[in-house]
Amino acid sequence: MKFFVLTIFPQFFEGFINTGIVSRAVKKGIVDIKSIDLRDFTEDKHRTVDDVVYGGGPGMLLKPEPIFKAYDSITEKGHKPYVLITEPWGRKFDQKFAEELSQKEEIMIICGRYEGVDERVKSIVDEEVSIGDFILSGGEPAALVIMDAVIRLIPGVVGDSESLNADSFSNDGLLGYPNYTRPAEYRGMKVPEVLRSGNHKLIKLWRRWKQIEKTAAKKPELLKKADLSETDMNIVSAQEKGLSFEDFLKKYKV
Ligand code: SAH
Repeated sequence: MKFFVLTIFPQFFEGFINTGIVSRAVKKGIVDIKSIDLRDFTEDKHRTVDDVVYGGGPGMLLKPEPIFKAYDSITEKGHKPYVLITEPWGRKFDQKFAEELSQKEEIMIICGRYEGVDERVKSIVDEEVSIGDFILSGGEPAALVIMDAVIRLIPGVVGDSESLNADSFSNDGLLGYPNYTRPAEYRGMKVPEVLRSGNHKLIKLWRRWKQIEKTAAKKPELLKKADLSETDMNIVSAQEKGLSFEDFLKKYKV
């Protein structure tokens, strides 16, 4: 997958590209990230990328020409990227959006700055994307968030694809279960006995119990939409009745 990021701060992405899972994906050749400096597509000696707003008002806007020229330089080489622009009012970025984008071969992300971009840029845009209802000073942090979430979904990027299925918002739509590592006891806090029992059937059930408990507490709307099995439904009703996991095991003889 290829990303083209149009930005006035190309150096913003260096740490991201050279760190962790993303850097491994780049080295393996699974992902290519080109951060493209809009100033390279200006014609004046000051390399101006912004200008005042027609009709008056505060702040500056990104000019259309560098963005169009950068876009042309990419499409002229035969690329056909799916074009996103970061906008606070855009489609809210979520796991489903990330999954859709992970199916694309080429994605371009236009990062706004100042008061935003000249409206005519929208003529080359496929979708406007927002990472939440707040105002950033530029689209670059949003582009990072989007690329990170999408890249880890590309096959071969995360070593163990099982770990993707266990993630919150994935697969069955439930939140993830709690995890522990060594030591078994730390500052008086113990790892739940069941996880050290070696009983894999019981561990699976306990994890399901915890997933449902967490989802009901933190994101009840997800639980309503989730794809639940008969055992899951029994867990839901046991939790609604206030049963403990141990009581649940006895009651349903599991
Ligand atoms: N004047 C704009 C805000 C501009 S913020 C307004 O009225 O809403 C500058 C740039 O940061 C935007 O052009 C956009 O590219 C980016 N940005 C700000 N908040 C964002 C968000 N929540 N999600 C994605 N991009 C955002």
